[in-house]
Amino acid sequence: MQDYISQLNDAQKQPVLQKEGPMIVIAGAGSGKTRVLTLRIAYLMQQGVDAFNILALTFTNKAAREMKKRIADIVGQSEAKNLWMGTFHSVFARLLRMEAGKLGYPSNFTIYDTQDSQRLVSAIIKEMGLDKDVYKYKQVYSRISSLKNSLITVRAYFADPDLQEADAMARRPRFGQIYQEYVERCFKAGAMDFDDLLLKTNELLNRFPDVLAKYQHRFQYILVDEYQDTNHSQYLIVKALSDKFQNICVVGDDAQSIYAFRGANINNILNFQRDYDDVKAYRLEQNYRSTKNIVEAANSVIEHNKTKLDKVVWTANDDGPKIIVHRLMSDAEEGRYVAGSIFENKMQHQLDNSEFAILYRTNAQSRAMEDALRKRDIPYRIYGGLSFYQRKEVKDVLAYLRLVVNPKDEEALKRVINYPARGIGATTMDRLIVAAKHYDRSIFEVIENIDRIEININGSTKTKLRNFVTMIKSFQALEEEQNVFELTEYVIKKSALLTELKKDGTQEGISRIENIEELLNGMRDFVEGQKEVADARGSLAEFLEDVALATDMDNDKGDQNRVSLMTIHLSKGLEFPYLYIVGMEEDLFPSAMSMNTREELEEERRLFYVALTRAEKQAYLTYTLSRYRWGKLVDAEPSRFITEIDDQYLEYTTPPDDYRYKSALQDHLWDEPDKSKLRQTKPKNGTPPSVNQPSEAQIRKLRKMKPMSAATKSTPAGFEGNLEVGDKVSHARFGVGEVLNFEGVGGERKAEIRFQVGGLKKLLLRFAKLEKV
Ligand code: ATP
Ligand code: MG
Repeated sequence: MQDYISQLNDAQKQPVLQKEGPMIVIAGAGSGKTRVLTLRIAYLMQQGVDAFNILALTFTNKAAREMKKRIADIVGQSEAKNLWMGTFHSVFARLLRMEAGKLGYPSNFTIYDTQDSQRLVSAIIKEMGLDKDVYKYKQVYSRISSLKNSLITVRAYFADPDLQEADAMARRPRFGQIYQEYVERCFKAGAMDFDDLLLKTNELLNRFPDVLAKYQHRFQYILVDEYQDTNHSQYLIVKALSDKFQNICVVGDDAQSIYAFRGANINNILNFQRDYDDVKAYRLEQNYRSTKNIVEAANSVIEHNKTKLDKVVWTANDDGPKIIVHRLMSDAEEGRYVAGSIFENKMQHQLDNSEFAILYRTNAQSRAMEDALRKRDIPYRIYGGLSFYQRKEVKDVLAYLRLVVNPKDEEALKRVINYPARGIGATTMDRLIVAAKHYDRSIFEVIENIDRIEININGSTKTKLRNFVTMIKSFQALEEEQNVFELTEYVIKKSALLTELKKDGTQEGISRIENIEELLNGMRDFVEGQKEVADARGSLAEFLEDVALATDMDNDKGDQNRVSLMTIHLSKGLEFPYLYIVGMEEDLFPSAMSMNTREELEEERRLFYVALTRAEKQAYLTYTLSRYRWGKLVDAEPSRFITEIDDQYLEYTTPPDDYRYKSALQDHLWDEPDKSKLRQTKPKNGTPPSVNQPSEAQIRKLRKMKPMSAATKSTPAGFEGNLEVGDKVSHARFGVGEVLNFEGVGGERKAEIRFQVGGLKKLLLRFAKLEKV
């Protein structure tokens, strides 16, 4: 048997070796789902299946590249390169290019990224004279996006009174008109937005049976990773394409479904067995990624979800160290703790930066981490910010190139028609937009015909407009003989973009120029890469497509030895030896916005499950007692998810008071603390602090903060003093119980309680919201 097959356990071998038929692998984190998918492809190819007949859909393009590399190692580079593999968006953008004409789109259609789409929505709201505080463009855009992902077209929208009613209730009765205008404008601009890539694929497969038959025949084997996060639109595409041969293999984990807010539908995984005949369902139970402590801790958390499939996850790996829980005073201190811990771990265990990751719930939390890492000179990389290609100066250059490929592209045109300044003002633009609507043409076409139409624009402005069109056309002419790199060099000079940037001598201006240089470097690589690919497609258009669909995860050069920082959502599928999950606080994680229903809370819990299961060797959970939110310093309370982990897998390592005292002072108070004052301040109740070491309550008081409401109730200060052995208490989750014993002091004080339902538990008093009964 092939070498790589012997590297699989028995359960993993089955889905790899089953050549035909529908199959689903539902299994917990780290159990080898992605590995199974990868090796299944290699095995199919070795069994004689042509790479052209295989389609694999992944969560990121980076994941696809890595899978391809692994497959190439087994079957050879020349075979592997013919595989169709990538995200839904990139795969179907490619397919749509080949069939665009059928849908009335040019094959060189532009892909609008979220920013382009939002700008267009915002412009439409303004043109329609609507109140931008009621019609918030981001909300309007996300409504459009979710309708599209449910395949609700403009026509379907207007045919459904309930949908219109919902928008009227939300004080946006004109939403339908915005939606309609948006769709028309995209079409006229020869542009598809992200959601169109799925919607139009569905349309194509539905309306044209011959096209459907062609791709059903082409993609005889279909594989989907992270199936639990597919949305309805994606589901229908997969269903349609796999309908003929039914050689479909999906892998996923219901416990890791975390994109419901973006329309992912967990029912896709739950109903799979109903959708196909004779589905083989496989389960993988052994986790190879993490230590026993991490696997068990994650299991104990996800137990709290009601909606889940029964699953076993175990590991033969070592116990490993316990999960460290660490409390801090502020986010700045949290950053310092994490950076310090990374530093120590590196020294102690001789580790690379790339073995560490810091995960957070919201992007805003990265700042404190960055500050601290910088101070320690620890190189890091943030994922999930703006992709390189979305930076303003880069987008400006790309806008010129987009016009070269597709001059109808309205968003690109609006971006650069007057940048650098050419004396084409806002009023002129407004008139052009009105004319474009009137003549049912793109703005570019209106300008091309400016002398033949009736439009209130003066002669000198007309000349400027004509010059702009002439310039773009001269670029188009060049495109035929020059490669992307040469063309772009020419464009930035001729358009005076470079001169404009050079005028700005500030550090920021310089870094903008550096980014453009970086863009040119990337283009040179791209051109070199093209030479090796036999069936390389039209280069500029292809470059722009790659760029439009690139996430910053995809630009990862992979050779950088840096600590990774990202939101938990982005960390799906990845693994890191040392993992820090920061901001483990109520209202932050679980998010304040996701606590209205059990469903929302369960999704937050799955998110935590995803986070924790990224760790291989050691996990840290940190939380702070106060945090700036919306510009205000507010008290924070530890996340319920910490308490939900079985205590035996946790180690609380909160530092001694004097440490907190010092850094709290450094952060928020004065340089020279007046210790005598501190000594005089006595807490109202709870254990008296030792001399010179103020309690949290004191520090808070000194900082003139309001006492914590809920948090105070659950801290020992509020309770511990009057709780005794033998007391009956009640706990939200475990029910009623009797206190048997105490251990530890101060914030670490625990009570051993025998609950009638929950059994014997050791609870940290500062977390457990106990009530005496
Ligand atoms: P997730 O749910 O997080 O996406 P997964 O189920 O896709 O996880 P993989 O990423 O495929 O899991 O595998 C987790 C880790 O375990 C990887 O490092 C993989 O190489 C390793 N692994 C998987 N199966 C085996 C095996 N049979 N022997 C040794 N290592 C394995
Ligand atoms: Mg995976």
